[in-house]
Amino acid sequence: MQHWVLPSAASDRVAVVGAVAMIGLLGGGQLGRMMIQAAHQLGLRVAVLDPDPNGPASQIADHVIVAAYDDFNALAQLGQWADVFTTEFENVPAESLRFLAKSGPTMPDAHSVGIAQNRIDEKRFIQATGVPVAPYAVISRVEDCHEISPQLFPGILKSARLGYDGKGQQNVDSSAEVTAAWEAMGSVDCIVEKRLALDREISVICARDRLGHIEIFPVGENTHRHGILAVTQVPARISPALEQRAHECARKIIEALKYVGVMCIEFFVLSGEQLIANEIAPRPHNSGHHTIEACSVSQFEQQVRICAQLPLAQPSLRSPAVMLNILGESWFKSSDHPIEPDWDAVRAQFGVHLHLYGKSEPRPGRKMAHVTCLGATPSEARARAIVVADILGLDTGRALA
Ligand code: ADP
Ligand code: MG
Repeated sequence: MQHWVLPSAASDRVAVVGAVAMIGLLGGGQLGRMMIQAAHQLGLRVAVLDPDPNGPASQIADHVIVAAYDDFNALAQLGQWADVFTTEFENVPAESLRFLAKSGPTMPDAHSVGIAQNRIDEKRFIQATGVPVAPYAVISRVEDCHEISPQLFPGILKSARLGYDGKGQQNVDSSAEVTAAWEAMGSVDCIVEKRLALDREISVICARDRLGHIEIFPVGENTHRHGILAVTQVPARISPALEQRAHECARKIIEALKYVGVMCIEFFVLSGEQLIANEIAPRPHNSGHHTIEACSVSQFEQQVRICAQLPLAQPSLRSPAVMLNILGESWFKSSDHPIEPDWDAVRAQFGVHLHLYGKSEPRPGRKMAHVTCLGATPSEARARAIVVADILGLDTGRALA
């Protein structure tokens, strides 16, 4: 491979820029689609491996391999097509990344993805960096259910693996309830986590390149409905001191992991601005979608830049923004049969950016699209988001009040 040297935009260090022509992407969802859009804007090509031939990313990829994520013949094919490898899928097998690493650099690597995929490893890792996490206990045997400290109640039983969008979670109020819920979950490894009184939820998208350079995006404020992200607004309504602490915690975690790529860290904010790390997503994240229009560089471009060994860009907020997630529910507002929402009424608004993911089958809870509303001020962005939420009948809770 040919290399040449350029100064980096984000610092005065020298970055090695490699000749990467094709990025290999595990996963064909909407995060992958937006990553491909960013790659295409840099003149780079992407090969996707996904079991669904018509997923959001596969529809616009330069090459598609239709196969399971653990099909090693297909992974070997991807290894031939691409120079570097990345993922957009929550539960991509760490083993598949390890296999691909024989063909080229994987960003992130199997080690980081493995930690983020197991809540027990993830919590222990975060704790070891000195960043606080919610009080919890590990449940791996029935005896563990009986030994839980009463201080963890009311609590939430969360499966250690394969949880996302609130799935694999159950409220629990006593040891007996933990035992029943744990057995109902198939007696898999779990944690019981204390349910905390949340002042708000925030997330930090950060990026680290192969040379260890780190760039961090402005903090986003998130509102979840039924365990699924509903609204992200930036700037977050937090003090500059808390924003700085969230950045410091993110830096500690990404540095300790020696992570290469874009990752998101979700935090809980408790009263008195107490900051608790909730979880790590080893990829661009739903709470960073606004970065496409609202920031000087998007989380997706940043991920592509890392894959292509280009200098990281310094992210800054160009405009206040509100991102609204659009789930399958929006198709079923007035009928049991899916009816396409009134996109033209959304498009008629100004400062509103509609991203449709190209999924053919709307289902309740399924992420189908999102809208990013910009404004000259946070209240203008919120006012636009209220109009769009009304058009689409979105439940934004108290987020925009
Ligand atoms: P997932 O992997 O499904 O995103 P999370 O642990 O992030 O799982 O939980 C989803 C949402 O549930 C959180 O964003 C938060 O709103 C709520 N939640 C999770 N854990 C707690 C907790 N310990 N206390 C209060 N709310 C919580
Ligand atoms: Mg979460």
